[in-house]
Amino acid sequence: MAKEKAQVYRKLFELIKVFLLRSVAQRELEYIQAKGYKFTTNVELGLVIRCTTPRCEKVLFNHVAFDRNLKPLCLKCCEKVTQTEKKEISVVQYKKIEELADICDGYVLTGTN
Ligand SMILES: [Zn+2]
Repeated sequence: MAKEKAQVYRKLFELIKVFLLRSVAQRELEYIQAKGYKFTTNVELGLVIRCTTPRCEKVLFNHVAFDRNLKPLCLKCCEKVTQTEKKEISVVQYKKIEELADICDGYVLTGTN
């Protein structure tokens, strides 16, 4: 009984996690589009990228914004730059929302983690 209950909680936790990941990625995309930042594919991404603003260093998720010197910034730190610098921000998307959703859905279906 307790084991079944634990499995239900685990499944519920995984479901909530997938839902949140997809929501965050979608919200990021909508925010970037609303800000008018341009997308690029000209920058190679490492596995883990952090915001380069001192004292921020937030780990970036599905969208990585770069300033004109190709320094990664989180979306919050993009707000702190000048209007001129904002026009030079470019964004790289790790995965399209559909690809991300497929990965997340596959994760839930196999339940290997
Ligand atoms: Zn930052």
